[in-house]
Amino acid sequence: MQEIVTIDGPSGVGKSTISRRVAAMLSFTYLDTGAMYRAVGLKLQNADVDLSNDNDVKTCLQQISISLQPAATEDDEVTVILDGQDVSQEIRSPEMSMVASKVSAHPAVREKLTRMQQEIGCRGSIVAEGRDTGTVVFPEAAWKFYLDADPEERMHRRAKQLRLQGKEVDEEELLQMIIQRDHDDQTRTIAPLSKAVDAVTIDTGVLGIDDVVAKMVDVIKNKQ
Ligand code: C5P
Repeated sequence: MQEIVTIDGPSGVGKSTISRRVAAMLSFTYLDTGAMYRAVGLKLQNADVDLSNDNDVKTCLQQISISLQPAATEDDEVTVILDGQDVSQEIRSPEMSMVASKVSAHPAVREKLTRMQQEIGCRGSIVAEGRDTGTVVFPEAAWKFYLDADPEERMHRRAKQLRLQGKEVDEEELLQMIIQRDHDDQTRTIAPLSKAVDAVTIDTGVLGIDDVVAKMVDVIKNKQ
């Protein structure tokens, strides 16, 4: 079994914060797979690639370089370098979330990123966060978690994050985006968001972040 922790679930459940903290506590590398889909979304959008044209998508993906650099502290997002440029801020807008969700349904995009993620997993112990890390990318992971929470709860969490970044938030619009993205992620044909049968589910709307992290570390330590 690979020394890999997978943490999947819909958007806004606190996955990133929780994953970063679990990784820090275990001294594992944190792998933010969503950031990779966002970077690909930005690349395809900037290049104005028509997603229905498989050849154009594949050609664009052949020329892509994505590198994730660890954040300064466990409370910061990873730094994402796309083709030599720091796009960390640009990829984290609600609009880019929708673009990422759209491109993530493309078979060539999933194939490319799944392979890149598996290569990273081969290099050492990791905490992988995403939608399909326990089901598709690392089915042999030693520890799997699925985080969930009510959409309203998730909207409030995301709204707070965006306001802290000085952004204006339309709560109703944000809620609709979350519901739409859940629907798109759960119904796409390839690697839809779903819970691995052997994943431990935790409702992050009920427990606070610290309690969720403590519970996960407890599960991991007790299943060595
Ligand atoms: O996790 P994050 O919100 O950054 O992910 C952005 C989008 O990327 C998700 O809505 C989803 O469509 C896609 N994604 C995915 N598979 C992953 C991670 C993210 O399809 N493992």
